[in-house]
Amino acid sequence: MWQKIFPTFSQSFRLLSQSPCVICDNTGQGVLCKTCRQTIKKPKYSCRVCGQLLIGQSTDNRCRECIKSPPAYESLHYIGTYDEVLSTLIIRAKVGKQLSAVIALQLLVDDFTDNHKQWGQTFADYHLLPMPIPRSRLMQRGFNLPLLLAKRLSVQLNLPIIPQHSITLPFFVDKQAKLNRQQRQKNEHIYRINHQLPKKMLMIDDVVTTGTTIGQLAKRLRREKVTDLSVWAVARGHHSNCR
Ligand SMILES: [Zn+2]
Ligand SMILES: [Zn+2]
Repeated sequence: MWQKIFPTFSQSFRLLSQSPCVICDNTGQGVLCKTCRQTIKKPKYSCRVCGQLLIGQSTDNRCRECIKSPPAYESLHYIGTYDEVLSTLIIRAKVGKQLSAVIALQLLVDDFTDNHKQWGQTFADYHLLPMPIPRSRLMQRGFNLPLLLAKRLSVQLNLPIIPQHSITLPFFVDKQAKLNRQQRQKNEHIYRINHQLPKKMLMIDDVVTTGTTIGQLAKRLRREKVTDLSVWAVARGHHSNCR
């Protein structure tokens, strides 16, 4: 469905190489200028499991929540903190359906894989799983941003993508955005697994904030005998009271 809305990457790239920067409107450097790229940051210390910000180094580099109740996935990897540049790009891509923002995110995927060659090798025998979204939202939006990101990662890392019909999300209780943290944690997604899944999977998402949604899917996948499970996201939201 997304192909009807978005042209191929090479078509878009040609189309947009002369476009101004999505963030600051600077011209001459494509959809994301060098200055804006350089403002994307990661915390110096972060939890080696969930990626959450750590205030200083700890003995085993895990946050309190991961020590108390480890998530069902092994590790979470991401490009940068969910702050000005990444949040603007993701919202403009997802909500505004702005093609230049999608292209900018795909360029960041390329940067990430180019700069983390060894990281890519760790997942050489994994399958990519774009986070499923409810059918109703897919109809409304017309595309699934995690799938567009997974397609780019798939090209860069030469990894297969798990077909979308393998895991579906027929029910969605309420809009997550309107709920507070506690309500969100109770608001369980009911995933339906329609096909046998590979043993090693890398879940792909645009942004991970509380981690509740990926945590729920990870738990569900473990029941399907998935043995190795990690997460890759463009951005990670941080709360400053974490240690
Ligand atoms: Zn810029
Ligand atoms: Zn953690």
